[in-house]
Amino acid sequence: MDNVTLLEDTRQMLPQLIELRRALHRIPEVGNDLPETRAAVLEALEGLPLTIHLHETTSGIAAVLEGGRPGPTIVLRGDMDGLAMPEDTGLDFGSEHDGRMHACGHDLHTSMLVGAARLLSARKDDLAGKVLFMFQPGEEGHYGARFMLEEGLLDQVDPSPTRAFAIHVTSLYEAGTLYLKPGPYMAAADKVTITVHGQGGHASAPWNAVDPVPVAAEIIMAAEVALTRTVDVFDPAVLTFGQMAAGTAYNVIPATATLTGTTRTVSEERRDQIHAMIEQVSAGIGAAHGVTVDVAIERGYPVTINDDEVAAEVSALAAGLLGDDRVNQAPTPIMGAEDWSYVLQKVPGVMVFLGACPVDLEPGKAPVNHSNLVRFDEDAMAAGVALHTAVALDFLA
Ligand SMILES: [Zn+2]
Ligand SMILES: [Zn+2]
Repeated sequence: MDNVTLLEDTRQMLPQLIELRRALHRIPEVGNDLPETRAAVLEALEGLPLTIHLHETTSGIAAVLEGGRPGPTIVLRGDMDGLAMPEDTGLDFGSEHDGRMHACGHDLHTSMLVGAARLLSARKDDLAGKVLFMFQPGEEGHYGARFMLEEGLLDQVDPSPTRAFAIHVTSLYEAGTLYLKPGPYMAAADKVTITVHGQGGHASAPWNAVDPVPVAAEIIMAAEVALTRTVDVFDPAVLTFGQMAAGTAYNVIPATATLTGTTRTVSEERRDQIHAMIEQVSAGIGAAHGVTVDVAIERGYPVTINDDEVAAEVSALAAGLLGDDRVNQAPTPIMGAEDWSYVLQKVPGVMVFLGACPVDLEPGKAPVNHSNLVRFDEDAMAAGVALHTAVALDFLA
């Protein structure tokens, strides 16, 4: 099957996909329980020759397409969840769910995957193997992919997938352009909570109390300095304290002070080193002032690592499909995190970024993913659908 036909079929389908995307955009749901979204996706898949497994621990949907001949399995993913935030885009299909918004483009991902399911269903006789369409909830920090894996996602199809592919849209890049890189592409994101235990007292007599506030301030400064002095810049790390909390009144020395932050790393080695550094610095600063300091680290999503060979194959395939000038090597990893990483730990594959900056805005200046103002170019979905389809056709040739 040639690229011209595939692109034409995709373009023909685009109006339906835009309609679906807008319907989803109106009803953003957050977390792992997405009943309205799941119902809309199931309706959109109706009539297709798919075996559907409805997940029970989450609203995940695993839909399997069996090709005309035996062969391996590829998993294609679309995440379905929105964010807990208000939408201020003024779009006429804006969110109807107060305080929730599809601000990360997952409504486009879901629609693109539905599009790919339709195109691949129409070509099922050409497929030597199976396609597992993974519609996942809870990407935005709720471990939706991990829950689906724990519920046996990869065993719900026989043979188990040996190739994995996912697309993420971004308003950072020009619509229809593609970015990817081999190796680590997105960071591990962990949460750090540091509690400094002092002794409360009167603000006028700190010598009769143990003030935790300056100790907490010193820990922030010392940890940031230690980071710049101990981290190899070619295997980077980010440490940001987004929250500091202490005290209830201006004239009271509080008993405790708490810092909450996040670390971002793109190797497991660096991840462990940074955690150890934070513990060491916190304990050391605490000891210097005679207070105890507790450090709690919650490990979040691991590093998203693209398979080198698959990245090269997908790059070449995408260049043939979309044009050489549309496919770019990403110069660096992105310090955001993705739970697609859990799938890539088990199945060789990649995640790629698809530019979807609105044509009336300038890439790099447009509101970004997670902004209350972010908009996406819907026509860019055509490239995404074609790519999902081409990657599956190629793997199952
Ligand atoms: Zn997001
Ligand atoms: Zn996202």
